[in-house]
Amino acid sequence: MGLDAEALGSRIPGQLSGGQRQRVSLARAIVTRPRLLLSDEPVSALDASNRNLVLSLLDRLRRELGLAVVVISHDLGSLAGIADRVAVLYRGRLVEQGAISEVLDHPRHPYTALLTASAPSVRREHRLLPAQLRPAPDREPWPDDQGCVFAPRCRFAGPECREEPRPVAVTGTGRLHSVACHHADGWRDRTG
Ligand code: SF4
Repeated sequence: MGLDAEALGSRIPGQLSGGQRQRVSLARAIVTRPRLLLSDEPVSALDASNRNLVLSLLDRLRRELGLAVVVISHDLGSLAGIADRVAVLYRGRLVEQGAISEVLDHPRHPYTALLTASAPSVRREHRLLPAQLRPAPDREPWPDDQGCVFAPRCRFAGPECREEPRPVAVTGTGRLHSVACHHADGWRDRTG
């Protein structure tokens, strides 16, 4: 884990840095050699250098131990370097999933596009501005419980969005990429 046992000595958790605590937690999680590691916001409380350290440690662990790692995170930029696949949830609904490079570079759901547009460290090609994705200020409010879960925040919501969309496979590089949006093929033309 890159921890110096001598230097840590008999320190209690409150005497460790945030990065050291995360690495101790990872050591405790993998000591029984699990096949699957679930990691919930593993780097959200860390500064940039510790974040990179812990992410590269997770990446090394999965390769060296053949460990499957599921990372739950609000920070798409952190995932970009280590994940193979990403599943994007909005209010508990799966709105898009696919290979991480495809989803981040060519998001097909307006919510994923808003996330990538708002994240400073995600790749910049084909990136839209958040203002191109937000509803016009004078739009009628959308009833919270009707149709598509993202409709109240979606610039492209139309009458058909009153029906909840089902995830549908979309064409990409050949690996499964699915999107739950009635306008997955057309909303980008309406970003102005
Ligand atoms: S289904 Fe409609 S409201 Fe939902 S994300 Fe797609 S365009 Fe927006």
